[in-house]
Amino acid sequence: MSGLFAAAFLRQIGWDADVYERSTVELVGRGAGITTHPELLEALEKSGAGLSDLGVAVEKRITLDRDGRVIAEKVLPQILTSWDRLQRLLRTTVDAAHYHLGHTFERVEQNGSGVVVHFAGGASERADLLVGGDGIRSSVRAQVAPAVQPIYSGYYIWRGAPNEADLAPQTRGSIFPYFTFFLPHRQQVIGYPIAGRDNDLRYGHRRYNFIWYRVGDAQTLRDMCVDENGHQHEYSVPPPLIRKGLIAQMRAQAQEIMPPQFLDCLDKMQPFFTPIYDFSTPQLVFGRAALVGDAASSARPHMGFGMAKAGGDAQALAAALGSHDDIEDGLAAYNRWRQPIGERIMLHGRKLGTHLGVNLQTDEERAMWKLLQDHRAMMDWIAVPNFLDAYR
Ligand SMILES: Cc1cc2nc3c(=O)[nH]c(=O)nc-3n(C[C@H](O)[C@H](O)[C@H](O)COP(=O)(O)OP(=O)(O)OC[C@H]3O[C@@H](n4cnc5c(N)ncnc54)[C@H](O)[C@@H]3O)c2cc1C
Repeated sequence: MSGLFAAAFLRQIGWDADVYERSTVELVGRGAGITTHPELLEALEKSGAGLSDLGVAVEKRITLDRDGRVIAEKVLPQILTSWDRLQRLLRTTVDAAHYHLGHTFERVEQNGSGVVVHFAGGASERADLLVGGDGIRSSVRAQVAPAVQPIYSGYYIWRGAPNEADLAPQTRGSIFPYFTFFLPHRQQVIGYPIAGRDNDLRYGHRRYNFIWYRVGDAQTLRDMCVDENGHQHEYSVPPPLIRKGLIAQMRAQAQEIMPPQFLDCLDKMQPFFTPIYDFSTPQLVFGRAALVGDAASSARPHMGFGMAKAGGDAQALAAALGSHDDIEDGLAAYNRWRQPIGERIMLHGRKLGTHLGVNLQTDEERAMWKLLQDHRAMMDWIAVPNFLDAYR
């Protein structure tokens, strides 16, 4: 996403920009839900991707108790979209001739005034600038800043997206239209509606994004990453290969704590898990290589701000290059502008993560943990718009 945003904004300042993507096929069919923020909407509009059929609008947030009764609500209109929808909108900003699938970045050579980028299989490209928008496990960052590594938060999520049509009428009526919280001790369950397959926004054809935060140390995670065939994975396991026993155990634990509506969601979806990491690179520019999006920094997903940051990084990079005659000066300005913002967002994510009570070390963290034990505070803090204003 940050790569597509970068290409779109760089073209607007007159640069030629090509996108090289590792995947050999178009990246479609990913269901993950995405909370939107004003910054993301602005980046989508200005990049030319637009906002058409962006997602599902919710009017309010609710919190449930164990029996599924609403114990609090907060009016907060928000649009919830999906990774798939954003990818399709952004993909229209790059024509086929400048979008290259099946290109895995391997290494970059620099000569002071340009780069030669080498891809797996032997292909290479010469350019004035390399923009590394290759995600949290960025290979570009691995070369230019190998010491910077994502840090495991001490918790992970079970997630999935059941079809609206499969859910019980009670679930559809009571939680489907809302951004819903259920907050047992040291856990969070969050749900919200998103488009169905092929961005279907019609009633009855949408899905409900389900996320369940669980605390688990590094050894627990390592055990979870052994798949059905006994193979050890490094970070996560492809959904069809997750051990059946692990899923059965997770479902049994859910039975003990969850309200009926979220149990219904769990029953109707293929669950998979994602460990939560974060980090921030102290420097975004390395000669003629610049990092954007998750390659530059990645926050825990409590704000749902990763896409907005990807768009903001790309916008800032183009604005900085466009307002300086010298490329190095433009890159330095980009670094000065966005590095502190990425770090701030990461720290804010940690602040919200204190809710889960993992490794609280300072009085400030303990005070935040205490504040967030109140479900009304969680509705006031999690994934709310304009949170960066507080730091300006
Ligand atoms: C559980 C969870 C929930 C989230 N919820 C939200 C949310 O609600 N709202 C939100 O805005 N954000 C959310 N995010 C964050 C969001 O998904 C990321 O911030 C966003 O995807 C970052 O985009 P990116 O383009 O920088 O990286 P990515 O989306 O990771 O894209 C990187 C791209 O680079 C390609 N690539 C990787 N390596 C190479 C290589 N060597 N050569 C060539 N190509 C390569 C990959 O195939 C991929 O296409 C969430 C993240 C998680 C984990």
